Amino acid sequence: MTSQTPSDCLFCKIVAGEIPSDRVAESERSIAFRDISPAAPIHVLVVPRRHEPTVGALAAVSAEDLADVFRLASRVAEQEGVADAHRMIVNTGSDAGQTIFHAHVHLIAGAAFSEGRM
Ligand code: ADP
Repeated sequence: MTSQTPSDCLFCKIVAGEIPSDRVAESERSIAFRDISPAAPIHVLVVPRRHEPTVGALAAVSAEDLADVFRLASRVAEQEGVADAHRMIVNTGSDAGQTIFHAHVHLIAGAAFSEGRM
């Protein structure tokens, strides 16, 4: 599986504020920002501040960080008014469509979310 070190990881740069993002929420362990190429009216990425290439790798090293990503995603769903109508999607591996190897959860919602690319 492809993996990136934090120095060449796009999401590490977004976490550090070195690359701009439309941040919608954050916690001590995670941040949430709007996807640059939304697949639905609401498309937010929730990423741990800690660099791990996949959600599975994150789960193996830190249950707290894993829980926090989903906790923050739920908070964003409430903020966006879609607590009862959203998807949380995790792609693992390039064959499954993962393009950025920093663990992240896609929060997808909105009227047309079932017609998008996910
Ligand atoms: P996929 O590209 O198949 O969705 P991933 O699950 O790895 O693969 O998701 C990476 C996501 O990151 C994509 O939805 C992409 O649009 C998004 N993305 C890429 N660059 C940025 C950026 N600079 N800011 C916000 N989102 C980004």
